[in-house]
Amino acid sequence: MLHVYACITQQHDPWLLLLAAAVCGFGAWVSLSLVTRAAGAAKRMRGLWIAAAASATGGGIWATHFVAMLAFRSGLTVGYDVLLTALSIVIAVVGSGAGIAVAIGRGAGMRGAALGGGIVGAVTGAMHYTGMAALQAPADHLHDARFIAASLAIGILFGAAAMAVSLRRTSLRARALGAMLLVAAICGLHFTGMTAVTLVPNPLATPSGQAMAPEWLAVAVAAIATLIMGLGLVGSILDQRLADRASRETARLRSSEERFRQLADATFEGIVIHRDGRVLDVNRAMTELLGRSPEQVIGRHLAEFVAPGQRDAIARYHHQPSFGRLEVELLHSDGTLIVSEAHGHSITQDGLPARVVAIRDIRERKRSEERIRHMANHDLLTGLPNRSLFLDRAGMALANARHDGEAVAVFHIGLDRFKTVNDLHGHKAGDALLRQAAARILDTVRKHDTVARLGGDEFVVLQTLNTPLDDAMLLAERLVQALAAPFELEDGPQPALAALGASVGIALFPQDGEDAEQLLAHAGAALSRAKSDGRGAFRFYEAAMDERIQARRRLERDLRAALETDALCVHYQPQVDCGTQRLLGFEALVRWNHPERGMVPPSEFIPLAEESGLIGPLGERVLRSACREAASWPDGIVIAVNLSPVQFRQPDIAASILAILRETGFPPERLEIEVTEGVLIDDTERALAALNALKMAGVRIALDDFGTGYSSLSYLQRFAFDKLKIDRSFVSTMETSQETRSIVRTILALAKALDITVTAEGVETEEQLRILQEEACNQVQGYLIGRPAAPEGIRHFGLSPAAGMLEAAAGA
Ligand code: C2E
Ligand code: CA
Ligand code: CA
Repeated sequence: MLHVYACITQQHDPWLLLLAAAVCGFGAWVSLSLVTRAAGAAKRMRGLWIAAAASATGGGIWATHFVAMLAFRSGLTVGYDVLLTALSIVIAVVGSGAGIAVAIGRGAGMRGAALGGGIVGAVTGAMHYTGMAALQAPADHLHDARFIAASLAIGILFGAAAMAVSLRRTSLRARALGAMLLVAAICGLHFTGMTAVTLVPNPLATPSGQAMAPEWLAVAVAAIATLIMGLGLVGSILDQRLADRASRETARLRSSEERFRQLADATFEGIVIHRDGRVLDVNRAMTELLGRSPEQVIGRHLAEFVAPGQRDAIARYHHQPSFGRLEVELLHSDGTLIVSEAHGHSITQDGLPARVVAIRDIRERKRSEERIRHMANHDLLTGLPNRSLFLDRAGMALANARHDGEAVAVFHIGLDRFKTVNDLHGHKAGDALLRQAAARILDTVRKHDTVARLGGDEFVVLQTLNTPLDDAMLLAERLVQALAAPFELEDGPQPALAALGASVGIALFPQDGEDAEQLLAHAGAALSRAKSDGRGAFRFYEAAMDERIQARRRLERDLRAALETDALCVHYQPQVDCGTQRLLGFEALVRWNHPERGMVPPSEFIPLAEESGLIGPLGERVLRSACREAASWPDGIVIAVNLSPVQFRQPDIAASILAILRETGFPPERLEIEVTEGVLIDDTERALAALNALKMAGVRIALDDFGTGYSSLSYLQRFAFDKLKIDRSFVSTMETSQETRSIVRTILALAKALDITVTAEGVETEEQLRILQEEACNQVQGYLIGRPAAPEGIRHFGLSPAAGMLEAAAGA
């Protein structure tokens, strides 16, 4: 160490030494800058950068060496061998290039950097000793091998450290430290190497080859130094430009990334980017859908965020390039499942393939779809399933029953008298009533039985049974009972009660039908039977009902045809004074001359006409022909025409009767309208208005079938009838029953008090006539006096003087 120190301080010019150090330092700095630049350069530019770095490194080493040599005071006249000097430059530059290439080679790492640095150190040694060999002086070179070895070790070790340090980090500090280490390598090697050499003057030692004066060497050094500086300048300018461009590029990328993030966060759809199911990024909407922060989602697997049952299913889509409208249930952090729709596409993220999935919350859409489906399948008023849903459910229940060998019953429920209440109290009351009925039915059945509303006042229940007949009977009874209790009506300020009652028809699977439609139709047939058998009851379906229904349908069709072809005619039955038996009038009774069945009695087709709506035209036709016929009779002969309660539901019934009177020119005073008390049960207000209108016009009103109803007497109070007709059933039992006779007597007394005329119907015997005369009945009608007959027939019945009048009239 001391030798080296002495060598530096005693054998060198200090100013030139300083210059050597400066050249070395500058060269090292430029060299390492270019090396790091080369390390970061694109492949095609790499060779150029390595060449530049090699020139700077080799040039720096070489220039340092020779400036130091200029500073060396040997006391001898020296020259330099041109060839060897040139060779030393080549060694320095090419060798450095090799070292640098190793240091920054692909996958070199720290070891490679150190190895490359070591090579540069070794090359410095080779250059130094070649340069020493180029020194030509009249002296002998004595070498100390230990110092040579030490010089090489210093060059290699420091060179390795310099490269390792400056390539590990790209900071300026690392580069400065690297440059100092490189300076240490070069200078350390040089001066240790100089210490190893002793020049012993020997005038005989003659220089070989071409020698170059130190002045020329100075020029060469200056040229090399300029080259290094030039390279440094070019490098740093290029570096600056590249840095600018890079920073502009990163700024652009940053801002576009920022824009993308803002865009992604602004959308309502959840967006998730994943690779093989592993989440790379999410937007805000997605984190809100999941109820988790981005940190809780990014890096996790998608499967964690979907419903457990769907995990396998969605895994199939991780590698599909794109998909749309995939329905998934997301798992919110609070455990709720969010029905969503996903669309997926392939993208590239950080140079690798990834998938972007857009997810939309479709719960609201699902809810409205569900509402629409519900509306399509349910009755809005009661919320019960409607007919189509009932048939669906019944279909499923039947399939199960078929499989399990079970029985199923279909109950068709009809509310009796609903229409009356609805017309009387308005639709609001009717709706409330239907809701109450629905609630009662639901209360009566078991939880899993299906209850549906078919429309109007009709409901249906489906029940699976163990013991079909008993169970079905029990439920039917309970249904009838539940609906028999009066319903509350919120009609006006005072709550009212309305007793409707219900009838039930039952069809059983498998015996009564194969499918739901058939069972429903058969239960419906049983219901009509229950209704016509007196209401408030239930009936099981019987195959015969089907035939009855078929027969009814045929009859209805024929009746329609009869109305069109005039197959209906009117017969007339005389009514006479009870005491004098003077002819007072005739009752018009409709007849149907059926092409196949002959004369069909009105009891068979009037109810059918009432149900099918044919009663309107039928009634008008009877009235019109009766008036026409009676118009030709002598004055004072009255015609009585029956009107069905159903006809009184027609709003303009009074007007249309009066119109027919005008049309036929028949005086209203000679018309008597016969109604039953049913008129006043059904739609009292409207019926009363019609009856009053007719009465005002001069038409007389008779109460037919008196005594057969429930509260006949009360009806006498409600309307001022002109006449009442004691029903045939009283007349026929009057002879044998004292009780009946006293009822007849009471009716007659009451009527007298109210100033109402009384006609006894169905008088068949002289005895009956005698009793009625005794009780002072006003008028009689019956087979005894005359059977109903066609217009031709009544001209000849000739049982009273009046008949003569009639005949005269007919003949006129
Ligand atoms: P109703 O109004 O009580 O008519 C009297 C019924 O008793 C008639 O039956 C008549 O033929 C029958 N009859 C009369 N005298 C006797 C008798 O001495 N003994 C017996 N056993 N029967 C007697 P019909 O013609 O079969 O009419 C039945 C019902 O049909 C009528 O009962 C009436 O309610 C209804 N009806 C008849 N024609 C019409 C009509 O044009 N319009 C409406 N709405 N109903 C009608
Ligand atoms: Ca009658
Ligand atoms: Ca009658």
